[in-house]
Amino acid sequence: MSFAIGLKCRECGESYATEARFVCDVCFGPLEVDYDLVAAKGHVTRESIAAGPPSIWRYHDLLPDPGAAPVDLGAGWTPLHRADRLGALLGIKDLYLKDDTRNPTGSFKDRVVSVALSSARRLGFTTAACASTGNLATSVAAHAAAIGWPSVTVIPSDLESSKVAMTAIFGGIVLGVEGSYDDVNRLCAELVSEHPDWAFVNVNLRAYYAEGSKTLAFEIAEQLGWRTPDQVVVPVASGSQLTKIAKGFREFEELGLTEGPTPRLFGAQASGCSPVATAFRDGTNVVRPVRPNTIARSLAIGNPADGPYVLDEVHRGGGDIGSVSDEEILECIGLLARTEGIFAETAGGVTIASLRQLVQRGSIDVNRPVVAIISGHGLKTLDAVVDTARVTATISPSLADAEAVLASLSNQEVSL
Ligand SMILES: *Cc1c(COP(=O)(O)O)cnc(C)c1O
Ligand SMILES: [Zn+2]
Repeated sequence: MSFAIGLKCRECGESYATEARFVCDVCFGPLEVDYDLVAAKGHVTRESIAAGPPSIWRYHDLLPDPGAAPVDLGAGWTPLHRADRLGALLGIKDLYLKDDTRNPTGSFKDRVVSVALSSARRLGFTTAACASTGNLATSVAAHAAAIGWPSVTVIPSDLESSKVAMTAIFGGIVLGVEGSYDDVNRLCAELVSEHPDWAFVNVNLRAYYAEGSKTLAFEIAEQLGWRTPDQVVVPVASGSQLTKIAKGFREFEELGLTEGPTPRLFGAQASGCSPVATAFRDGTNVVRPVRPNTIARSLAIGNPADGPYVLDEVHRGGGDIGSVSDEEILECIGLLARTEGIFAETAGGVTIASLRQLVQRGSIDVNRPVVAIISGHGLKTLDAVVDTARVTATISPSLADAEAVLASLSNQEVSL
């Protein structure tokens, strides 16, 4: 059973039922799902969770009610990978990577979509929809296909070709908008009023959607043996993931499920779209919108809805926010692949490059454990690496040719 008891305004605290509502009637603030953690205490135990399925739904008690059965392609319970080789290179003693490339459609968005569409079905919606920078559209289209729902996904028209193909293949309507994600988002806010029976997972279902990100915190703590890590590095687009990871760690702590410190959260942004990192650096809590220009398209949100909440969470723990160039992003996609055997999309490059920057800046304590979130698979952004990740040499099918090339290569430094 779910211990969710309602929706609560994040600004004024007004309460509502767990219904199809996404802004507060009183102050127009955003809503979030509220739980009866007092009742949950004792019911939700390490044992009850461990007995659950190997997916986000092992935490069903602490997620919104999915109705008769969740909309589920198997999101979550991804590996927490101990990264000793990358850690040694960055000078970090205990580095772990939360490998969310290993989700059904290759990104962390499967977590939020599984939760949002489960709530949408329970609430009587019949069409799945979203405003997306790419990965969300793919996940919405896939989950909708699996339950036989129509889907309408809206993306910037110039996205990476692999993300467009990975979305269109599921058969829904894909609208490519000539404009930025922020234009897409504005358009979807208008479409919501015209089509009240469409579940725009990150607009009118946003309160439910956001809860899916808590499962990253739950899994990390459980996989560390019910211990919280000292530090977590999280990529920031709208800021929902970082904000809800913080909420997840707090809920586990309140339930007495974990030991260890309250994790310090660190953000990661591309300098071509770093409105939250800039506000943090300037010491203001006003996030000024920017026009994105970065290869990290999945993080290219110039006007992040949860930006101010990210600043709150990062300040609360004494964290910091990295901001890295496209060159550093590409370099760190390679670094991660060569040291750990994990192929990440550009957002993963942002996380690793930011981690390196935060270590160099002294913000991260290299003697305490660090977890970095790798949120999407490299096959999603092949465009970014095809020019540099190429065959070493092209040869004729002859032994002599192969040996000659290998001999010339063995003279070269093999470097990381
Ligand atoms: C959407 C996304 C994020 C961050 O999302 P938020 O909007 O900040 O919750 C991070 N990584 C990838 C790959 C994404 O697709
Ligand atoms: Zn309110």
